[in-house]
Amino acid sequence: MAAPRALCLPLFAVVGIAAAADHTMTSGLGMSPEQKAVVFEQAELAFAVDPAAKSLDGDAVLTFKAKSPLSRFALEFDPRYAITAFEVDGVALAAQDRPDNEGRIEFTLPKAVSVWATAPTGEPWVATAVEGEGCDLLWPCIDHPMGKPLRVIQHITVPAELTAASNGRLLGVDRNDKTWTWNWSARQPDTYAIALNVGPYELLHSDYRSRYGNSMPMDFYYLRGNRAKAEGLYAELPKMIDFFEEVVGPYPWSDDKVGVVETPHLGMEHQTINAYGNDYKKDINGYDWLMQHEFAHEWFGNQMTNADYDDFWLHEGFAMYMQPLYLEWLRGRMYYDAEMLRQRGLIAGKHPMVAGRSRPNGTAESEAIDPGTDVYYKGAWILHTLRHQIGDRAFRASMRMLVYGRLDPKPGNFKPRYATTKDYVNAVNRITGKDWNWFFDVYLHGAVMPRLDVERAGGKLKLH
Ligand SMILES: [Zn+2]
Repeated sequence: MAAPRALCLPLFAVVGIAAAADHTMTSGLGMSPEQKAVVFEQAELAFAVDPAAKSLDGDAVLTFKAKSPLSRFALEFDPRYAITAFEVDGVALAAQDRPDNEGRIEFTLPKAVSVWATAPTGEPWVATAVEGEGCDLLWPCIDHPMGKPLRVIQHITVPAELTAASNGRLLGVDRNDKTWTWNWSARQPDTYAIALNVGPYELLHSDYRSRYGNSMPMDFYYLRGNRAKAEGLYAELPKMIDFFEEVVGPYPWSDDKVGVVETPHLGMEHQTINAYGNDYKKDINGYDWLMQHEFAHEWFGNQMTNADYDDFWLHEGFAMYMQPLYLEWLRGRMYYDAEMLRQRGLIAGKHPMVAGRSRPNGTAESEAIDPGTDVYYKGAWILHTLRHQIGDRAFRASMRMLVYGRLDPKPGNFKPRYATTKDYVNAVNRITGKDWNWFFDVYLHGAVMPRLDVERAGGKLKLH
């Protein structure tokens, strides 16, 4: 192996208001041999948000370590962004390699990604969410689930008095004349989990003491004026953390934080800064299902990330099943059964859950075989059925293997991992000492639910 070398790619960008390119609206198309040949060590992203002009300045410094010499490299980025400067290892690329409209550094975010809103108290309230379209809608990246940088540092500049709540640990706030810059650092966030959240936020903060003995900051950025409601939801968080830590395993990001931010959109599993927009509503079961669902993704989605979007049920099926499991843990079996029955009625059964080959987001071919919301409800039902086949002990062990790659996870002894459906099936087989492929074949590779034939004859009941 040749000596590694680093590539640094600073960028400024501008975007028009044309529709996004087809390529931008897809995610997970595959990684090029060059992209597979690097370690994405760090993305340092500076955003300057101007809510009055609905514009952003962007500057990205991306650091890659090549495992072998490379003569070319590719990143994905919405082509509506015009790049105003582009350097590799400090050397500017030739002018002809650059897009035309050099010089402008303001750009308007595409509508699909951004929510430019006004807080109830009148200040700007801005959020982004790019799941589905992928990270290239917001920053230059490897738009694939396995394209995570080992670290993401953000410098988010906003009008003074506004807060930019983001992924990871707050390094500090630079108070400039008319703006404030919020500096954040996050360990290995999911590519679509990088998000801007800007508003007149206030903070609820405390340290949560884990059943594993470690403690972690627990931060909730709520809109000014919502303190009483926010305190109500914040009080639910310790119970949710304790449930996940008992049933699945240690909270994966205790070195960063437990984080929630109030957003103008419903919700998204933005790593360590979960987007929350459920208006503090408790459902019929007396808890905030949206908060619990998004938080489940810290384990199923962020710590364990699907290697391909064909394995997406590993994110959503498990995250969905965590609501009935939580209700059972919190309130008893009747609540579990009622929630399972509700989810049962939502199974569509149009396309198989898993195609068995790469299925990127947003292409015509994948949309034609998209399992849709079955990744949630049918996914949860598969897990419900499996749990009752293999028992609670084996089922919990299978979740630990999937999420941590080991049966004895403790804070500090695991790293974020990528997993496939096959990895999960293999884990179940290994833990139970039996071959469950017949079970997964029926539920994952068939679209419709299996039929139960019942025969009664001569005092005998035959089930097939
Ligand atoms: Zn989800």
